[in-house]
Amino acid sequence: MCILCDCKGDFGDLMQLTTLDCSGCETVAAIPATLTKLKVLECAGCVRLKSIPPTLVNLEFLDICCTNVSEIPDTCVKLTGLYCVGCVKIKAIPRTFAQLNDLDCAGCPGLKYVPYSPYATLDLFNCDDDCAFLNQ
Ligand SMILES: [Zn+2]
Repeated sequence: MCILCDCKGDFGDLMQLTTLDCSGCETVAAIPATLTKLKVLECAGCVRLKSIPPTLVNLEFLDICCTNVSEIPDTCVKLTGLYCVGCVKIKAIPRTFAQLNDLDCAGCPGLKYVPYSPYATLDLFNCDDDCAFLNQ
């Protein structure tokens, strides 16, 4: 359970949020597209999560480790940090993420492309065994 679950579908009070942490919630299935002010979104281990709304254009940090997200919206051009460890459905990280300097994409067997960044510390080693959420 997390703040999204607590709202029971009424996200009006959350629209000013710049940070949202629903890590480990196995109930939440979607991030509301209206939370456009979000800069930090942490939803590691939200196994029911399959997508991130393209309206979250102000995101600077996104943690979707061990979710079923298959695509990261190319509209999140302000992203500097992206953690997608164990996202087995991810196939690409958009080329539009020119500001990305903190990327952890271990355990993403489907990942065929990561954007060039002079700052990125690319970690392409499989570390599924280290993924706490997948081992549950
Ligand atoms: Zn929840």
